[in-house]
Amino acid sequence: MAQDKGIEEVLEFIWSQREQGSNSIQQLLNIEEVAEEADMKTLERMQRDALIKMDGDTVVLTLNGEQLAEAAIRRHRLAERLLTEVLSLDPESIEKNACSFEHTLSHEVTDSICTLLGHPPTCPHGLPIPKGNCCRKTGGELKPIVQQLSALDVGETGRITFIVSNSHMRLDKLGTLGIVPGSSVRVHQKRPAFVIQIGETTLALDPEIIKEIYVKRVF
Ligand SMILES: [Zn+2]
Ligand SMILES: [Zn+2]
Repeated sequence: MAQDKGIEEVLEFIWSQREQGSNSIQQLLNIEEVAEEADMKTLERMQRDALIKMDGDTVVLTLNGEQLAEAAIRRHRLAERLLTEVLSLDPESIEKNACSFEHTLSHEVTDSICTLLGHPPTCPHGLPIPKGNCCRKTGGELKPIVQQLSALDVGETGRITFIVSNSHMRLDKLGTLGIVPGSSVRVHQKRPAFVIQIGETTLALDPEIIKEIYVKRVF
């Protein structure tokens, strides 16, 4: 179903606002990007179209609105991941491009991007990416180009594409070890401990950390 681009964006803002714990209509309409696209009339139309429900200053998504918002958020955040980590665009052009290209991605293309990126749990800002069908089923035909470090076999090398940890302490610690996007790591052994080789150094890594490191396999 083709939705108005502006409406889709308003749905996304209602979604992100809820993530931050607010459902205030006043607050929503005060967001600069929303003010450019929408006013009370837009919201009333959205209510008539059964996308949202308003009550006083409160706005909630209907089931239909929820599905559209979730899909749009998913496309937006996956587009951000793709543009940042794989195409290495600079931050300013990312927001612009993520926004324009998210509206043109079909479900299928979105799931392919998700699969190629190894089904990342978060966007580069650390916000959760809603799961798609591709994330729930295993063993698709498409081979991911980016995978969790744990997917590599002993002896294989991967170049780190991104790290999804939300812990600054952990990122700092990994950074001092040279475990940053762009560096290459070789899997030295997987059992009993997961040991990687980075440069001349071998390091044992905790299982949770392994899951947070996404790599592109180097042949
Ligand atoms: Zn983001
Ligand atoms: Zn997926």
